Amino acid sequence: MDETPFGDDTLHEECGVFGIFKRTDAAAVVTLGLHALQHRGQEAAGIVSFDGTQFHVERHAGLIGDTFTKQSVLERLPGESAIGHTRYATTGGGGLRNVQPFFAELSAGGFAVAHNGNITNALTVQRELQRRGSIFSSTSDTETILHLVATSAARLFNDKVIDALSRLEGAFSLVGLSSTTMIGVRDPLGIRPLVLGEFEGSPILASETCALDIIGAEFVRDIAPGEMVIISQDGIESMFPFQARRPRFCIFEYVYFARPDSTVEGRNVYDIRKRIGVELARESGTPADIVVPVPDSGVPAAIGYAQEAGLPFELGIIRNHYVGRTFIQPTDSIRHMGVKLKHNANRRTLEGKRVVLVDDSIVRGTTSQKIVQMVREAGAAEVHMRIASPPTRASCFYGVDTPEKAKLLASRMTVEEMAEFIQVDSLAFLSIDGLYRAVDEPSRNKMMPQFCDACFTGDYPTSLTDQDGAGADNVRQLSLLGGAG
Ligand code: SF4
Repeated sequence: MDETPFGDDTLHEECGVFGIFKRTDAAAVVTLGLHALQHRGQEAAGIVSFDGTQFHVERHAGLIGDTFTKQSVLERLPGESAIGHTRYATTGGGGLRNVQPFFAELSAGGFAVAHNGNITNALTVQRELQRRGSIFSSTSDTETILHLVATSAARLFNDKVIDALSRLEGAFSLVGLSSTTMIGVRDPLGIRPLVLGEFEGSPILASETCALDIIGAEFVRDIAPGEMVIISQDGIESMFPFQARRPRFCIFEYVYFARPDSTVEGRNVYDIRKRIGVELARESGTPADIVVPVPDSGVPAAIGYAQEAGLPFELGIIRNHYVGRTFIQPTDSIRHMGVKLKHNANRRTLEGKRVVLVDDSIVRGTTSQKIVQMVREAGAAEVHMRIASPPTRASCFYGVDTPEKAKLLASRMTVEEMAEFIQVDSLAFLSIDGLYRAVDEPSRNKMMPQFCDACFTGDYPTSLTDQDGAGADNVRQLSLLGGAG
């Protein structure tokens, strides 16, 4: 959860990964790939390269462009294979020690790993390892993977990785780099995305296809849930070493996290978001004059809504794209000015209009409250809020930073109470079946849901060992230290 000084309360994906094998200027290519994945994490980034003899590691706070575009940094990352990671840190998230990729010299050789997702039994496993003498230098669940690889009794390196990952629950789409291979793995449920690409003969692994587009690389295919690919001089070997499960990809990637120009699991994200808007208009259309998105994430759904409802689509709110987290810490006097750092109303468009305001989700409701107030102050006659997802009622434990359940507005209020809280004339959310229809499913299969939708339904697809029973103490410690991967 992002708590900027001015109270942004959107959800945040925590990580993007990218790797390329056997390509001149590998680190520069990874830098470009991570730049395209910047929406998946803006607080820190890292790259590990291998030059045929040794590994090189650079990990820095800030955006990719802050550091990795500097020639001096890229010169410290020589080699023809490299992996990288961009990260959103949880509040107080442990600083540089939690920045990925993690790298360690193991008895089997150097190994770096970059991970998108969150291991739901990482702390429980970590405690076990610590009791046996392991020393951890971070609070990241990703370091647990390295320790398990290091301590695996398996003989072959790939088997050590399989052995390690078999002990873990939760979400992991990861990229690993050894002296001879680049490895890509997705957990058996395939909760987070991971794709295989190719650029002039060099294989690429990336969180999303937009990271292939930026360098003109070809999309080859999605890495399948439960698949491990081992990329070496000999080619690409694929295996399915884990017990098969029915996949449950994160449906929120379509609503909000993935970039609209990405194709995820065969579906174009922009198309899905427009279809979400269509479903929303069908389910909860209302008499109005204009449809206005909360930019940027509400834009495609608002386009779909406007088309379906036969209403004009208008940019009634303008977003300032240059708001950084490093913006001045507000003094009380600045706070009282009601500073509109991120959004401003386009008064001429809104004045006297009945407005349908489309946003992707409501988390704590504080941002929605401010935006509605702004639209009203700009002269809107009525404000009808339409949300392009079902109410967010439960926390995510799979790599998305959400506040604890009690802080989610929908976990403690009815829709009517929420409407009153954010001061709208009407409020409606997309139904869960409407969301499934938008992704080409007839409805949600209650017995065997086709996606992870736990933040809407509370139906978690894995055990939450660190959250339950004996693991709960570990989670309390995690929340103090920060550090999901
Ligand atoms: S809980 Fe929500 S955000 Fe998290 S993986 Fe599941 S659907 Fe995605």
